[in-house]
Amino acid sequence: MQLKIYNSLTGEKEIFKPILDGNVGMYVCGPTVYSNVHLGNVRTFLSFDFIYRSLTHLGYKVRYVRNITDAGHLTDDGDVNNDRFVKQTRLEKLEPMEIVQKYTVDFHKVLEMFNLLPPNIEPTATGHIVEQIELTQKLIERGFAYESNGSVYFDVLEYNRRGLNYGELSKRNIEELFANTRDLDGQGEKKNPQDFALWKKASPAHIMRWNSPWGEGFPGWHLECTAMSTKYLGETFDIHGGGMDLKFPHHECEIAQGKACNDAAPVNYWMHANMLTMNSQRMSKSTGNYILPMQLVTGENDFFEKPFHPSIVRFCFLQAHYRSVLDISNDAMLASEKGFVRLMEAMKVLHSISPNDDKQSGFNLEEWKNKAYDALMDDFNSPVLIAHLFEAVKYIFALNDGKETISAKDLEDLKLTLNALIFDVLGLQSIEENNNEKLDQTLKVLIELRNQARKSKNFELSDQIRDRLLAEGIELKDGRDGTTYVLN
Ligand code: AMP
Ligand code: ZN
Repeated sequence: MQLKIYNSLTGEKEIFKPILDGNVGMYVCGPTVYSNVHLGNVRTFLSFDFIYRSLTHLGYKVRYVRNITDAGHLTDDGDVNNDRFVKQTRLEKLEPMEIVQKYTVDFHKVLEMFNLLPPNIEPTATGHIVEQIELTQKLIERGFAYESNGSVYFDVLEYNRRGLNYGELSKRNIEELFANTRDLDGQGEKKNPQDFALWKKASPAHIMRWNSPWGEGFPGWHLECTAMSTKYLGETFDIHGGGMDLKFPHHECEIAQGKACNDAAPVNYWMHANMLTMNSQRMSKSTGNYILPMQLVTGENDFFEKPFHPSIVRFCFLQAHYRSVLDISNDAMLASEKGFVRLMEAMKVLHSISPNDDKQSGFNLEEWKNKAYDALMDDFNSPVLIAHLFEAVKYIFALNDGKETISAKDLEDLKLTLNALIFDVLGLQSIEENNNEKLDQTLKVLIELRNQARKSKNFELSDQIRDRLLAEGIELKDGRDGTTYVLN
């Protein structure tokens, strides 16, 4: 079996050959942390979490880099001098770095709730200003960029003049781009309207600013990802991922920057995750058609009739292939809940099954395993993998009813395979498992509140917290290192 990956650059499913045998370098564009991530953003990050888990499970040693964009992302994909952070700073009356911290913390909390694994490196754009300035200098030296009025632009026409092809990823041609570029701020400084900013001069009102050879300014969004990906993964690396909407201009510009700097394509496999829609419309903050992850989990929203556990949301997302559009709806969530509950029930039942070697089984474990792994290795086809899991579910219930047989060896193998695929690869968690974490967090909050009550000498309240928990079978124990709890 060979792993096949759909490469957006070639438009074909290709056999995956890493640069270094057994190792994978993977970069995924991270969030712009100027506001809360919506459920659509979560879908893209979850798709790549599943891909990361799959690669790891298949035996690759993965270096997974996902950045945090904490500067430079403009509110418009043109080069309007309107930084998302600066805008939010005014709105919330906070320091830019307070905005960054607030939404980075929220981002991490949300991803943890959906059981996403952290990347191996999570670099920030502001932590790599030096690298971005160096890249800009290199591009000027090589004749691919020019300075204009304190900003530096990438010269797209020069790039094509040298036989390179701006538009190769998004399959756009340069004349079309020329015709479609609107007259936006900064256009007058550019040689051609399709040139993009590597470095932007900061206006006097712009708070996020750094010194550079071209005066005070801030880096361009596209350059951030080139700087961070090549620093940690090399001038050419294996996989670059992101949402479909980042293909143009963001990833197109990354390819141009990489080729112009290093005379080599920066990425071997470009992977793009498809969008989450709601009411058949792309989920997006700007149109108002969005739901925050917490609102789906608590049920505080106008779209869904009940709350849904994060594991069920995760399961629902994985029931669609990462390259397909997924429309989230109340019915889709209810169907996923049903499927998820049945899958988890089967896993419970599996533990009580005893082997029985008497008769030949109608279920061929080897064949089933091959089919499941074929799906996984066929461009990470999670819906087909899940369909195969349900064949095993049927078999488990038949075993439980005494209608099927299994040998001791096969039983062990089935348990190991299902555990690996369901919990490690798909990253699902049983609801109880997740609830235990919730209970732990809740008790920590109660312990903290009790401590506060004691500090302010409100012993009536602190005793009440202790006694009522005890009545529920939860004993608080005060020790030298603080208070712990025991579940009786
Ligand atoms: P941003 O913070 O705007 O840079 O977006 C973070 C990630 O979410 C990017 O990879 C986007 O492509 C992705 N994204 C944005 N909207 C959606 C959506 N409706 N469905 C799936 N992914 C999305
Ligand atoms: Zn990026």
